[in-house]
Amino acid sequence: MQLRLYDTLTKEKRPFTPLDPSNVRMYVCGPTVYDFAHIGNARPVIVFDVLFRLLRHLYGADHVTYVRNITDVDDKINARAVRDFPGLPLNEAIRRVTEVTANQFYADAAALGSLPPTFEPRATDFVLPRADGKTDMVTLIRQLIARGHAYEAGGEVLFDTASMPDYGALSGRKLDEQRPGARVAVDAHKKNPGDFVLWKQSSGDEPGWESPWGRGRPGWHIECSAMSAAYLGEVFDIHGGGLDLIFPHHENEIAQSRCAHGTPAMANFWMHNEFVQIEDTKMSKSLGNFVTIRELLADWPGEVLRLNMLKAHYRSPMDWTLKGLEESAKTLDDWYWVAADIKGGRPSDAVIDALSDDLNTPQMVASLHGLRNSAASGNDLDRSQFAASLRLLGFLSESAADWKARKQQASGIDAKQIDSLISDRTAARARKDFKESDRIRDELAAMGVVIKDSKDGTTWEVAR
Ligand code: AMP
Ligand code: ZN
Repeated sequence: MQLRLYDTLTKEKRPFTPLDPSNVRMYVCGPTVYDFAHIGNARPVIVFDVLFRLLRHLYGADHVTYVRNITDVDDKINARAVRDFPGLPLNEAIRRVTEVTANQFYADAAALGSLPPTFEPRATDFVLPRADGKTDMVTLIRQLIARGHAYEAGGEVLFDTASMPDYGALSGRKLDEQRPGARVAVDAHKKNPGDFVLWKQSSGDEPGWESPWGRGRPGWHIECSAMSAAYLGEVFDIHGGGLDLIFPHHENEIAQSRCAHGTPAMANFWMHNEFVQIEDTKMSKSLGNFVTIRELLADWPGEVLRLNMLKAHYRSPMDWTLKGLEESAKTLDDWYWVAADIKGGRPSDAVIDALSDDLNTPQMVASLHGLRNSAASGNDLDRSQFAASLRLLGFLSESAADWKARKQQASGIDAKQIDSLISDRTAARARKDFKESDRIRDELAAMGVVIKDSKDGTTWEVAR
């Protein structure tokens, strides 16, 4: 089945044809590293990792380039550095904040079963012209000025939105609709209220780089125009991120990249994930209604968080609930039990077809449940297809024994003690002391241990 993806720009699901099948190119906006990522931030990480894996499956692992940046220059970072390290020089404090946060993000993404992207550039490495000649922000801004798309005013360099006839096409906002509002500061020096900052001056105690426009720092949007061009070229296949990035971030990336390069498009597909919500409200740092990936990982294996996320389609809002997590954990316990120790095999067509329909992960999960049933009752081929499908999707990173042991450890259960209680119970049953055997079963149940008797003996597992 041909891969089809929904494109926010053309508002349609279209067949995906790469510009160059030997190098399929995708860019996803990464985190601004000033604080731990919450489970809402994990949604683009997981969704676009699944797309990365699907593209690798379809075009070959060496024929996909995935870039996800790290935004390590931002006024929120400066504020956090001042707050957390008041005694340190600002640059040192900023380095601490961004290093710790970026490393935590890498650890979170890996724990969620995501592959490392091909490149993870940091914005601060792409501000000034580079020795390797890769695209940088200062050069892009100079090009924009030279082509009449940017101007200097009030100590800033601004993008001239009126210079681009179809500015606003992604978000569907017309320039004259952008009346001064909460999100667009009204500044007298701007030609139009929607004009946005490419470069701004830094005061002595702010991070800054020497540029043709004085010592300053880049605006947020120009970072992604530079880093995407640096690794993927002027026009590439897929650009992704969360819904909140459509405007202004992606709109402005498109404006900068197309106007600097003189190209009719920046990316052929624009993909946006909907929000993770808590009680129908977007999870966000500013609202304070968030739970960090790190906190969740203390209670749940990363694969449980991953499966839970994929139960919803990426273009639907999803509520993050304890009940959902408990169900996902149960499902994975079962899948581990059926498939984790089976190696090799090819992923099932049903799973690939579901993903090929604009990443229809709810359909994919339904297919996996079906495959699970044929695997449990079927032959080796069914089992290997089931296991290979799960591995393609980033599951079954552990053996069944390790999965079970980790769960026992997490529940503070002593496996030796359980085994000894179970052999006491077996002995009681053998001498027909059912009162004692029932008592031991109840004792185990009180510890959260469920036992199953079969003709091969007694097995046990921890109920969550
Ligand atoms: P930020 O660090 O705020 O720039 O966000 C990093 C990524 O997470 C961006 O792609 C955001 O669109 C995305 N994001 C932020 N909050 C949520 C949420 N509640 N649900 C889904 N994605 C989100
Ligand atoms: Zn971006």
